[in-house]
Amino acid sequence: MNSSEKKKQKEAFKAAYINKIEEVSGDCLAESSVLKQYQALAELVMDDITTQWAKSNTKYNKHQNKQVYFFSIEFLIGRLLKSYINNLGLEDIVTESLKELGLDFTAIQEQESDPGLGNGGLGRLMACYLDSSAAMDMPAHGNGIRYKYGLFEQRIINGEQVEVADNWLRNGYPFEIRKPDKAVIIKFGGTIHSEKINGNLTFVHENYEPILAVPYDIPVKGYHNETVNSLRLWSAETLEDFDLPKFNQGQFLDAVRHKSEAESISQILYPNDNGFDGKLLRLKQEYFFVCAGLKRIVRRYKQFNNNSMDGFSQKICIHINDTHPAMCGPELMRILMDEEGFGWDDAWKMTVESISFTNHTVLPEALEKWPVSMMKSLLPRIYMIIEEINQRFTQEIYAKYPHDMERNYGLSIINNDQIHMASLAIVASHSINGVAELHSKILREETFKGFYQVFPERFHSVTNGVTPRRFLMNSNPDLKDLLNESIGTQWQGNLFELKRLLNYLNDPIFSDKFNAVKLSNKIRLAEHIKKHNNLIVDPASVFDIQVKRIHAYKRQLLDALHVLYLYNQLKENPHLEIAPRTFIFAGKAAPGYYYAKQIIRLINAIAKMVNSDKTLNEKIRVVFLENFNVSLAEIIYPAANVSEQISTAGKEASGTGNMKFMMNGAITLGTMDGANIEIAEAVGPTNIVTFGLSSDEVSQYEKYGGYRSIDIYEKDPRIQQVMHQLIDGTLGFGLNFQNIYDSLLLHNDTYFVLKDFNAYVDAQNRVDQLYRNERTWTKMSMTNIAHSGMFSSDRSILDYQREIWKII
Ligand SMILES: *Cc1c(COP(=O)(O)O)cnc(C)c1O
Repeated sequence: MNSSEKKKQKEAFKAAYINKIEEVSGDCLAESSVLKQYQALAELVMDDITTQWAKSNTKYNKHQNKQVYFFSIEFLIGRLLKSYINNLGLEDIVTESLKELGLDFTAIQEQESDPGLGNGGLGRLMACYLDSSAAMDMPAHGNGIRYKYGLFEQRIINGEQVEVADNWLRNGYPFEIRKPDKAVIIKFGGTIHSEKINGNLTFVHENYEPILAVPYDIPVKGYHNETVNSLRLWSAETLEDFDLPKFNQGQFLDAVRHKSEAESISQILYPNDNGFDGKLLRLKQEYFFVCAGLKRIVRRYKQFNNNSMDGFSQKICIHINDTHPAMCGPELMRILMDEEGFGWDDAWKMTVESISFTNHTVLPEALEKWPVSMMKSLLPRIYMIIEEINQRFTQEIYAKYPHDMERNYGLSIINNDQIHMASLAIVASHSINGVAELHSKILREETFKGFYQVFPERFHSVTNGVTPRRFLMNSNPDLKDLLNESIGTQWQGNLFELKRLLNYLNDPIFSDKFNAVKLSNKIRLAEHIKKHNNLIVDPASVFDIQVKRIHAYKRQLLDALHVLYLYNQLKENPHLEIAPRTFIFAGKAAPGYYYAKQIIRLINAIAKMVNSDKTLNEKIRVVFLENFNVSLAEIIYPAANVSEQISTAGKEASGTGNMKFMMNGAITLGTMDGANIEIAEAVGPTNIVTFGLSSDEVSQYEKYGGYRSIDIYEKDPRIQQVMHQLIDGTLGFGLNFQNIYDSLLLHNDTYFVLKDFNAYVDAQNRVDQLYRNERTWTKMSMTNIAHSGMFSSDRSILDYQREIWKII
């Protein structure tokens, strides 16, 4: 674009924007609030996108490409305004125009609420996959729930987590389109009876409670292309706002109760990450978006296929994200048999051919098991079909392996009056995959060993990835510019091209610029810390960061105990030579997870003690940032020097935070777990710091015993000291972490924190040594970015396309 053309575009944009502001606010630009400035910009952007959206949909309808639908109970999409603007290629036009109008673009962006429609990695992965699919012109869409309240907002008050409702729709949401004309009815409860209609056995559902599912569509705009896909989120409503007869009889509250009970289905996201909450309302949520999504997909398919279901499973991929949508199997069977008139065998073939399944965790407490009684009364027809699926499957297995009854029993979908959703998902899909090499291996050899023997061809592995648009280009614009001016722009279309950076490892001018970018990102984070924690941290210190959900298996405790240990060292020897460090933590604990909340308290207590101790000469600082979400993540990852990925080996399926850190040049300090192993392979052993038990060692101890945490405690005075400090009042008057203390000694340290402690301290010392050699550290950092190509979600999507969805 030449400069006069650009000028013309900017003038046109400014005129349209000023108009829009007047339209949405009734005020002229000078008097408009920042909120109205945001809403006007959002609407202007939506005007552009919806035009392309309509074209994209027409194209999909005409050509009948294979369509992928991600079914997920979470989509953690983050703010969209900036990402739309960049994907439209309007970054310069908008940024410069707003500046010329004297407006603050950053403040405008901060008006957007960050939809917390997910807990962490699982929901964020879906958002990355939608972004990548659209960027690569692949027709892939999302299907989920439009929670009225997303994940709670976290406040830290007196060192403790306090939860506040997340009313993200308070000011409306400009990027969704409500489509009441596409609403469908979902049936709960009631009874099933069968009758012969025209000689066919037909199942009739009676006395059910009908709930209306209304879709809201959010456009998913591809990067610098014409593709716009859809994220469809369903909202629950009553069929009629009030129960009129009741209302007329004066039973006003009863009439309203019906409404609020119906709407409760999409009222709130369950706040457990990697945990199963077997509540009836959750089961309703699961069926609600599964049924609504499948009904629309079938209807659309027939609409553009001469009212026929022919070829359905060749054109439609139903991809289920973990087991929450596992009822896709029985529900698709129900639709095909009860509504479309197929017999069992044909319906089953179509179902298995359409569905594929990604498993996300091997933690036993996260595996979904629903009581038969609950399923039977809430979803009587679905239960009948699950029973039939199980009957046929177990018969097949018994016929094939008559001498292995114990193994056969373990494969039953229904066991001890519980329905095992992972087993259902495996039996009803043609593909199951883990999310990193190690995780997929554990699925084959441990978690789903029996199923692997029966269906070896169904098992795959696709390592997770993250979108470089959001987590590099948009959140680290200075790095993006530096890369563009040195290695060119090809990496923006193919992240493997970042390998070209290796040519600059010994270039001192580039290294200086590279370090300046990191420093400016650290200054940006330091400003956030000053503003929110009222604490000054030194941007020249090592930013050592652990941000993720708080969970025992992720071992924030190990990190915290090391800080305490280092504090003790510095108290003993104030002249200890270390590179100054700032330990930064952030993450939410599930509201009912007492242990995780105690960890937050502990970190804040350590922070208070360390930060107020003048004798340490500011060698260490500890920060807990409240309310970790996607927006905060975008400021944190680019500012990191050290990426803490220290889960107990074998427990973190993949991790994606590790990839976002790496892409922004942080050095991983991690266990050989999840995708850390693949990061280590990519960068080589000299560009990562690893430590601790292997997953094989962990599983040996778990199976055969042989680990006694008390033995380690008794041998090591350094460990004794930090352990005592948990309970002797060191960390504040009346503050006692007995519960954490007991978990490590009395309950034998389930996650091997003490077992890995010494190895972790050694690894931390290595980090310190490496950082103090600036040349070495800079090279390591550049090398990490150079090898991050394989952790782009574009690569993940290509793997799914090739291996699982089979789209040519
Ligand atoms: C990436 C991300 C996560 C996942 O982090 P892990 O370190 O992989 O657990 C969780 N929450 C947010 C907001 C993220 O952006």
